[in-house]
Amino acid sequence: MDRIHIEKLEIFARHGVCTEENFLGQKFLISADLYKDLHEAGMTDELTATVHYGKVCEYITKIASENTYKLIEKLAEEIASKILLKFDVEKVKIRVDKPWAPMLLHVDTVFVELERQWHTCYLSVGSNVGERKRIIDDSISRLDSCDEIRIVSVSDIIETKPYGFTEQPDFLNACVKIKTLLRPHELLEKLQTIESDFGRVRTVHWGPRTLDLDILFYDDERIITSDLVIPHPDMTNRYFVLEPLSKIAPFFVHPVKGETVCELLEKLKSKTPEGVSK
Ligand code: ADP
Ligand code: MG
Repeated sequence: MDRIHIEKLEIFARHGVCTEENFLGQKFLISADLYKDLHEAGMTDELTATVHYGKVCEYITKIASENTYKLIEKLAEEIASKILLKFDVEKVKIRVDKPWAPMLLHVDTVFVELERQWHTCYLSVGSNVGERKRIIDDSISRLDSCDEIRIVSVSDIIETKPYGFTEQPDFLNACVKIKTLLRPHELLEKLQTIESDFGRVRTVHWGPRTLDLDILFYDDERIITSDLVIPHPDMTNRYFVLEPLSKIAPFFVHPVKGETVCELLEKLKSKTPEGVSK
């Protein structure tokens, strides 16, 4: 992808593990790559179509000089996430050099370098207890109120018969496309906090719930851990997931199955035409 590169911006700041460093201070050199499609800026010659690197340099200087951190890892992380939140860039690479670190040994430089980016995820939202529609709408607003989550699109809400444990009220379901800075497990934790804030108590598996928030896809990643599996392992059997998902991501290719959401939905419908509850 195109990028804007800032090389060794010099900043006097007070980061360090030794207390002397926190009041004497020293120079840090900060480099940044801002990844963004620059074609429009190249065609139009308009500043509004790109990222103002002068403003980015001022912002980095403010973050580095107005805070005191022990680690340059923390400084790099803060700079990366704050740039992603403030400027219209997809991904950043941040390098923090500390060439004059007090070590009584000679090194040319010591640096930390990291890459951070917005991730695209699809979530499933469901409710079958209480004011279902309001719960779904409010939970989506709640997601949007998190700095590290941005709602990109929301499907219509559909009503479906319960799946698995069938002796319970009908569900309302929707799918949401988000951009997030959270890692998969951080996102799961955030979703579980929101579920419990909406009064969800985990009793019967597949049982009634005020709110169910599941991660369907996280970029193209495949994750298999004891408490998180992505793509969601049961999504291809669930009409109430594939139907709303097909409205916002019809051609997204399932990274394991290698088929689009539309193809998976058609397959499910042809497999269990009578089992597809609407
Ligand atoms: P379901 O959503 O399948 O109806 P639950 O909401 O009761 O079931 O979730 C049970 C557990 O599933 C959660 O505690 C969570 O750790 C785990 N889990 C595994 N993969 C995912 C995922 N992709 N999204 C959400 N939860 C998941
Ligand atoms: Mg769930």
